[in-house]
Amino acid sequence: MSFEKIKDYIKKQENWRKHTINLIASENITSPAAKKAIASGFMHKYAEGWPKQRYYQGCKYIDEVELLGNSAFYKLFNADYVDLRPVSGAVANISMFFGLTRPGDTIISLDTSDGGHITHAKFGAAGLRGLNVVEFPYDEEEMNIDTDKTIKLINEVNPKLILFGASVFLFPHPVKEIVENSDAIVVYDAAHVLGLIAGKQFQDPFKEGAGVMTASTHKTFPGPQGGVLMTKNLDQENMANVQWAIFPGCMSNHHLHHVAGKAITAYEMLEYGEDYAKQTIKNAQKLGEAMTENGFAVAAENKGFTKSHQIVLDFKKYIGKWAAETLEEANIITNKNLLPWDPVENSSNPSGMRLGTQEMTRMGMKESEMKYIAELFKKVLLDKRDPKEIRKEVSEFREDYQEVHYGFNW
Ligand SMILES: *Cc1c(COP(=O)(O)O)cnc(C)c1O
Repeated sequence: MSFEKIKDYIKKQENWRKHTINLIASENITSPAAKKAIASGFMHKYAEGWPKQRYYQGCKYIDEVELLGNSAFYKLFNADYVDLRPVSGAVANISMFFGLTRPGDTIISLDTSDGGHITHAKFGAAGLRGLNVVEFPYDEEEMNIDTDKTIKLINEVNPKLILFGASVFLFPHPVKEIVENSDAIVVYDAAHVLGLIAGKQFQDPFKEGAGVMTASTHKTFPGPQGGVLMTKNLDQENMANVQWAIFPGCMSNHHLHHVAGKAITAYEMLEYGEDYAKQTIKNAQKLGEAMTENGFAVAAENKGFTKSHQIVLDFKKYIGKWAAETLEEANIITNKNLLPWDPVENSSNPSGMRLGTQEMTRMGMKESEMKYIAELFKKVLLDKRDPKEIRKEVSEFREDYQEVHYGFNW
């Protein structure tokens, strides 16, 4: 029966993930408490609008949960306005574009090959909004936005909006330096680094002058899949337009079980966020170092590899596809990644790989485990050992890391 098959695949997936080393930088594991929230009866409700001002009856409990969630986010990010309604990071960005820009406006954002997200691109949401997308000048040595060239570019194109943030995100972006040289609306897409910001271990975008922050709630922020939009010192008109864009502009129902999960995760971050973010970054730096010791080239070695949860391997040849597939056979889950110097035609077989340490950190791993993971990479990719053999080793290794740390039990 198909139902039995589906049930079986769900169980298989759950059991398999517990026996893998997952290094996908955009994924994470929620606490048992947040997981319970996602499976709660809130998944069966509608609640359009604001707490206490809903378009539906029966919202007395979700109103309280959403207000508690909002207040934890205010505290974590020192925001003036928190909106947990966007159902994903992409929806938060789409709402932001609708609220803050008009077709024909110029924005500056990162090119996808330099780590920008598809929603930032001409061929993505920004282009669909009819925006004239100009890319940030990028410094490949520094693996970061080129500040001086960007300031020149701002003078030339006079953008309506500047969009910071990225999917390949090793070092804090020069928000402060650029805010001082522009009167554009400054948006910071914290999809990847929200949990590191919550733990006070990455740049504070609002303190550096960003007016809007959009994010996913499931990358370094270890909540359920979802989105958030926050603002700070945004003028009245833009504020009203952003709120309109979120609801009723881009959202109807806002997946209330996910709101409950985001709320619980935010309280976990108030409690454990600093320790979690510190260990995640320490692990990424250690993983970078251990990878070089095992014969891999790692981007930004001269800068200590990273100040985030990510590192970038540079294979120096187009073997990204083979590497990611072979590692998967060994139960090591990664994604191939186009590097800034790769030709775009090579996106399906690039020369790089992006790795993130946040999930394994939550499963209790520290620096010594990062060294071991780098050795596994060597065995699979350089020594070309049989990945099925390594899979056994990985599966056994993972037996000791089954409990989610830095969160609440339920
Ligand atoms: C992942 C990501 C998003 C989109 O988030 P979803 O929650 O997957 O919709 C937006 N911006 C950046 C920079 C991202 O990395």
